[in-house]
Amino acid sequence: MTARIIDGKTISADLRGKVTDAVHRLRRDRGVVPGLAVVLVGDNPASEVYVRNKAKAVAESGMHAFDRKLPATTSEADLLALIAALNADDAVNGILVQLPLPKQIDAQKVIAAIDPAKDVDGFHPLNVGRIASGLPGLVPCTPLGCVILAKTAHSSLAGMEAVVVGRSNIVGKPVVQLLLAENATVTICHSKTRDLPEVCKRADLLIAAIGNPEFVRGHWLKPGATVIDVGINRVPGTGGKSRIVGDVAFAEASSVAGAITPVPGGVGPMTIACLLLNTQRATCAQNGFPAPQFA
Ligand code: NAP
Repeated sequence: MTARIIDGKTISADLRGKVTDAVHRLRRDRGVVPGLAVVLVGDNPASEVYVRNKAKAVAESGMHAFDRKLPATTSEADLLALIAALNADDAVNGILVQLPLPKQIDAQKVIAAIDPAKDVDGFHPLNVGRIASGLPGLVPCTPLGCVILAKTAHSSLAGMEAVVVGRSNIVGKPVVQLLLAENATVTICHSKTRDLPEVCKRADLLIAAIGNPEFVRGHWLKPGATVIDVGINRVPGTGGKSRIVGDVAFAEASSVAGAITPVPGGVGPMTIACLLLNTQRATCAQNGFPAPQFA
């Protein structure tokens, strides 16, 4: 079997196009332009690339970008004061604080200080609780992207055996909640799971969010399974260069799976598209407008 490629680039471009149209209609019909504030503290090179890409995507969607770059020496009190100012600013509908933060700052305290209505990363405990309770709330972007991708391969996830490898707060745990909401039967695995390959073999839908290059092997998969690879791992490439691989051994997995996301070009581009979607939804909710239903 050669797996069908779930093309995150095309699917995310389609979603971004829909968000851009919705932003245009908001501006034209209601005179409202969504605004997203991305806060970067310090000069972590990977974070700087993410923030640059986010700013570009925000501008392309027609939203307003309110980016704030603070020095690595910023105190927790100063960051909390900035969050309070952004919470109070009506032009700012979404706030994202790029993680990780420098060690003098308690990330949980900062996340909890964000107005839950503007928490477009979906990390605030109130949004986490709402999603876990089956209530509407802002959903973390990468898990939302995973589920949208899975639903391009299956019209319904109801009754499917889904296995999630990884239990982080930003990917594994929220993706489990979203899959439960889709009526999948979900197993979540982690570093203490016994006989991981056997558990993976049960999966009609496997989501890998581990952070270990090509860790999930082809023979761990059920033939025909759908594989969503969240991992982004830099490994040595040819000619002294590096390359990016996922958490799944792509070539092996492609000969067993029915559908699979590539890395790069799978989940990664969906994360930014879902950030735009969340900002657009947050803007509608804050203004009492119905949110367009396209994802
Ligand atoms: P994380 O916080 O480090 O969590 C990794 C999870 O994998 C943990 O739950 C850990 O288990 C589990 N794990 C580690 N080794 C394992 C093993 N040998 N067997 C089974 N489980 C194991 O990572 P994360 O933030 O969720 O990110 C995971 C990957 O996704 C990374 O490559 C990251 O770069 C990528 N990522 C991509 C995007 C995107 O936009 N595409 C967004 C976020 C993250 P324990 O809990 O037991 O330690």
